[in-house]
Amino acid sequence: MIKNFYKIVFPGWLVSEGQTDRLVKRRIYLEIKYEDKKLSISGTIGENKYGYAYTCGQIYDNIDPRKVENTIEYTNDWNKDYLVGLINIWHKYHLNDLNANCEHQDYMEWTYHTQSNRKTYKGKHCPVCGYSIGSKWLHRDVPESALEFLRFLPSYKLGTPWHRGTQYDMNINDERQLI
Ligand SMILES: [Zn+2]
Repeated sequence: MIKNFYKIVFPGWLVSEGQTDRLVKRRIYLEIKYEDKKLSISGTIGENKYGYAYTCGQIYDNIDPRKVENTIEYTNDWNKDYLVGLINIWHKYHLNDLNANCEHQDYMEWTYHTQSNRKTYKGKHCPVCGYSIGSKWLHRDVPESALEFLRFLPSYKLGTPWHRGTQYDMNINDERQLI
């Protein structure tokens, strides 16, 4: 079983046009944390030492190679397949303890928004297990294969401008090689 881990990855640069038609390259840093069975992933584009970034947080749409074709320049040990794999996991399992629907409702593509009463706010019951959508946050384990994939991805071993990797005092294994 995969234990807690924490890592920063630097897949590459987002390349976009600057104000004077010059190309601007901004670094993409992603932070992956798995602790007590919870997965959280977040990222920054163009973070700087003054605490600012071009954008940050749940930025997967900004860096999805399927959506922003030809605007990502990869570092030597990264490529498009790695980034697509990471984004798919990110999208599916980020904050996996915050699911409003059960897995059956997932299969049926129910969301609380479409499957709840507008007046009472009560969610429709699952025909399989009876769970009322949106009535609590359900935990869903992240599959081992997804964790393996995240562990496999090349880490960034230096500190980022925001000094991430240094302010955490988690009980982490050898994955934590950041300065
Ligand atoms: Zn169900």
